Amino acid sequence: MHTIYLLLGTNLGEKAANLNLAKQLIEKEVGQVLVSSSIYETMPWGIEDQPIFYNQVLKVESNLEMISLLKTTQSIEQVMGRKKYRHWGERLIDIDILYIDDLVYNSEDLNVPHLQIPNRRFTLVPLVEIAPDFIHPVSALSQTQLLTECPDKLEVKKVNI
Ligand code: ADP
Ligand code: MG
Repeated sequence: MHTIYLLLGTNLGEKAANLNLAKQLIEKEVGQVLVSSSIYETMPWGIEDQPIFYNQVLKVESNLEMISLLKTTQSIEQVMGRKKYRHWGERLIDIDILYIDDLVYNSEDLNVPHLQIPNRRFTLVPLVEIAPDFIHPVSALSQTQLLTECPDKLEVKKVNI
């Protein structure tokens, strides 16, 4: 059994509904969702001329090995009708694998931990909410420490829904 942290992101259509559907499909295809962070409204990172995002982090228990995990999350993105518009750009649903236990793995198709975690407040704020003391297996810093050191200043605001 693996403990996995996934980041959901959406900035098109009914954003809260997109997060909900993604969570249901993750329950069905990946494994039990143990903890869900609040939903955060976040300013677009990388490309700024696009709609505001909703982001959420899920802690999931799964039997899938990493390559099947990546295939499964990508197929959920496809099933939900995600079209690729541009890198870092708008999307109906994006599912990023943040952590798998304390695994460190780097290939062309998959980097675990996700390489951008230390650079993105929209990832670190929900992580700090649900896993403040979890240690990043490469830097050996906690999520709280990573957020303190994060250079990103874009606004990340809890959504009340
Ligand atoms: P973005 O960087 O905007 O999230 P994509 O979601 O389209 O872009 O991801 C681009 C590629 O990132 C995917 O084809 C996937 O193979 C690769 N990738 C590498 N590491 C990860 C990870 N930890 N989680 C999800 N995708 C990853
Ligand atoms: Mg992605």
